[in-house]
Amino acid sequence: MINLANILLYASAEQPVETRSWWDDPTVIYFAIFIGIAIASWAVSYSLKRKFAKYSEEPIRYTGKEVAEKMLHEHGIDDVKVTCIAGQLTDHYNPLTKTVNLSEDVYNKATVAAAAVAAHECGHAVQHQQAYAPLKMRSALVPVVSFSSSIVTWVILAGLLMVNQLGTTLLLVGICLYGAITLFTFITLPVEINASQRAVNWLEESGVVDREKKEMAVSALRSAAYTYVIAALSALATLLYYIMIFMRRRE
Ligand SMILES: [Zn+2]
Repeated sequence: MINLANILLYASAEQPVETRSWWDDPTVIYFAIFIGIAIASWAVSYSLKRKFAKYSEEPIRYTGKEVAEKMLHEHGIDDVKVTCIAGQLTDHYNPLTKTVNLSEDVYNKATVAAAAVAAHECGHAVQHQQAYAPLKMRSALVPVVSFSSSIVTWVILAGLLMVNQLGTTLLLVGICLYGAITLFTFITLPVEINASQRAVNWLEESGVVDREKKEMAVSALRSAAYTYVIAALSALATLLYYIMIFMRRRE
């Protein structure tokens, strides 16, 4: 979320010329917040990689494919296919094609890490089957967010560069577009956390993992959830920063 637009924003935001201390300047505070988020984001992704590497060494009886098929079957879901896709960390559930798509490592390997990811993606399939409200809201927002994401940077940049009424209006439009993106990142949180809860509970109940290995799966999926928390906080900080610039413009 810390993108080109933000860097240009720091450069273009008007600095107060009066004798205020640097800590009174919101731009400095926001700059510190963004650096904090960047560091937290790095730490979370480092810890996530380490945990998945560690739990990829913990063997279990079933491959990711088998775990997914078993979990779907035990939830009475027979119309969702489990497929193997290329890449790493590409695992996802597609509600349109009704497929649980697992990356090669997850699909083929019989480890705690693979089982955690496979069961998490099936957690989304179970949410879909049960019409889980946050998932429905999230799906409804997808087209709005993909439209917003494609133009928001340019709208805000244009708004910043034009120091006139049209520029101020464009900034406001940009804030609304970014607001939709921010809302999406927050609705994603319950969807992801709930899918992980369903995953770990089922993994233990079904006997796929024992208590000790369940804790490993919990730890891996918790790390994965932090990446969504960071993304949401980053989006919120960026949105508030745009709002601050807009308010200053109007002063
Ligand atoms: Zn997920």
